[in-house]
Amino acid sequence: MSAATVEPREKLYEGKAKIVYATNRPDVVIQYFKDDATAFNALKRGTIVGKGVVNNHVSATMFQRLERAGVATHYLATLSDREMACRKLDIIKIETIVRNVVAGSLAKRTGLPEGAPIKRPIVELYYKSDPLGDPMINEDHVRMLGLATPAEIGWCRRAALKINAILRPYLRRRSLLLVDFKLEFGRHGRRLYLGDEISPDTCRLWDARTKERLDKDRFRRDLGGVEDAYQEVYRRVVGGKPSAA
Ligand code: UDP
Repeated sequence: MSAATVEPREKLYEGKAKIVYATNRPDVVIQYFKDDATAFNALKRGTIVGKGVVNNHVSATMFQRLERAGVATHYLATLSDREMACRKLDIIKIETIVRNVVAGSLAKRTGLPEGAPIKRPIVELYYKSDPLGDPMINEDHVRMLGLATPAEIGWCRRAALKINAILRPYLRRRSLLLVDFKLEFGRHGRRLYLGDEISPDTCRLWDARTKERLDKDRFRRDLGGVEDAYQEVYRRVVGGKPSAA
């Protein structure tokens, strides 16, 4: 698929970091990656210059890596520095989080220190709901709310752990520690696909040696050097430097 064969049509949805457009093809959408950043359920807002370009290309690289390993993703093609053609999914309203190292809300909930290793990766489910602030839920809540069938949730859990098993060593070879990350899955036809993005917005990535944060925590926690961290992830994952689009 090339930029010549997919043309954007009306805006379907504008989120915090991306805009989704319909296209001339009914089963294809375009994700447009913005530089806007939010945190803490949009209480904190800002701009990370160049973030959209980094997240578009880093996500494309991750999706291509996963496809090669047999994981079905919504990725179809990179159309430009900020635009990705994707299969149109009916998104399941669940955020699936995988954790290899204690950080963020897991540190708060358990009292364990950030950076403590987790022996066996863990999977958590959150209800994708802005008004509710994305609360953590379990499989009984998923069934009660009708968000997905038990078979779908089982599939998402297995896919999440498989994705972790592929991306963790892949990033480790690039001197990045995959601490935790968020995934979204959706339906297309009779199949499930990985959707959304895999980027420094949705993963915690630490330098493997120094444990320096190279992800959105630099923005969330006012650590400074936000743009440089995103550029560094681009350099290690995609290679080279992003254009200044
Ligand atoms: N995450 C995300 N979107 C969300 C919540 C979390 O992409 O709405 C990612 C986050 O970047 C981190 C992982 O999921 O890589 C785990 O986040 P956590 O539960 O620790 O919440 P946080 O501390 O980010 O609020």
